[in-house]
Amino acid sequence: MKTLKSVDPLKSIPCNECPAGNMHVRHITYFTWLGEELVTVPNFPAWVCDMCGKREYDQSAISWLSMLLNPEAGHPTRRVKRTRQPEPRKRNVPPPMLD
Ligand SMILES: [Zn+2]
Repeated sequence: MKTLKSVDPLKSIPCNECPAGNMHVRHITYFTWLGEELVTVPNFPAWVCDMCGKREYDQSAISWLSMLLNPEAGHPTRRVKRTRQPEPRKRNVPPPMLD
């Protein structure tokens, strides 16, 4: 399993929403819909402004995630082929003796 690239927690970037804020890396829970399933990703790196609270997700983490969620992207996943086990045959019960 791949792990997220760690983001330098001390790094901050100026906020593009407000003039005074700085965005810092926070680890939040990221929510996304995959088809009809809600996927939650804990400890997802995001940039959060300390003034206005604007959130921006880390781009490399987003692309990592979309690769992970999209089965057609990236490398083929190794899947264990599941062969269906045939149902265990019931023992042939001899038919009841009829008098
Ligand atoms: Zn801001």
